Amino acid sequence: MIKFENISKVYPGSSPALENINFNVNPGEFVSVVGHSGAGKSTLLKLIYTEEKPTTGTVLFDETNIVDLRPKELPILRRNIGTVFQDYKLLPKKTLAENVSFALEVAGKSDGEIRETVPKILDIVGLADKMENYPREVSGGEQQRVALARALVNKPKVLIADEPTGNLDPVSTWEIIQLLLKINEFGTTVLLATHDNGIVDRIARRVVVMENGRIVSDKQKGKYQL
Ligand code: ADP
Repeated sequence: MIKFENISKVYPGSSPALENINFNVNPGEFVSVVGHSGAGKSTLLKLIYTEEKPTTGTVLFDETNIVDLRPKELPILRRNIGTVFQDYKLLPKKTLAENVSFALEVAGKSDGEIRETVPKILDIVGLADKMENYPREVSGGEQQRVALARALVNKPKVLIADEPTGNLDPVSTWEIIQLLLKINEFGTTVLLATHDNGIVDRIARRVVVMENGRIVSDKQKGKYQL
């Protein structure tokens, strides 16, 4: 589904952020990308959601080379990819429900569909009773659950989570990880970047270890039972 072929990335004036990366993700996988800060995890993920372009090499998404997509082709790709980040990126002046419905509006969904879908997805992430609250009125873990709901509401094939638990306490962290595992059980491919080895051990799926822009290990671990 996602294929990196001979990828290198050099930001101007820096040593390479990625060097000769070859890496495949199959549909339905849960891949944790782990490594210290600066190892290249975010850059790797940015190439998938086309926030950055590689200096050399090819990135295929469903057999399409996404490196040279024209601007008008990007929305089609991005519809297949949901993203969540360390800093939830919610809109502060919108309620939790409005944050989610906004993603549906942008995707051109009808009012009826939006009214039906928003409570359902917020219920899945356990926030049905806080729909009308504003982001500042709920905890970091709850904000991240809204960000997850927003990322998933348009049913992307892939969810990319870049340090989603970086600002969270251990309990909220594990709640988010369990949600990611549940989302994956329902068929969404998940790519998670984290510097936290403890999380990755508990997830116990495929683990890609990065160091200095290279993949130094890529192993399948035992399946975690929900
Ligand atoms: P990680 O996500 O593992 O912390 P990054 O992909 O963010 O790693 O960074 C990899 C390397 O690329 C680091 O040396 C970082 O300083 C550098 N880097 C990342 N983004 C930029 C940028 N926009 N401009 C210049 N250098 C960058």
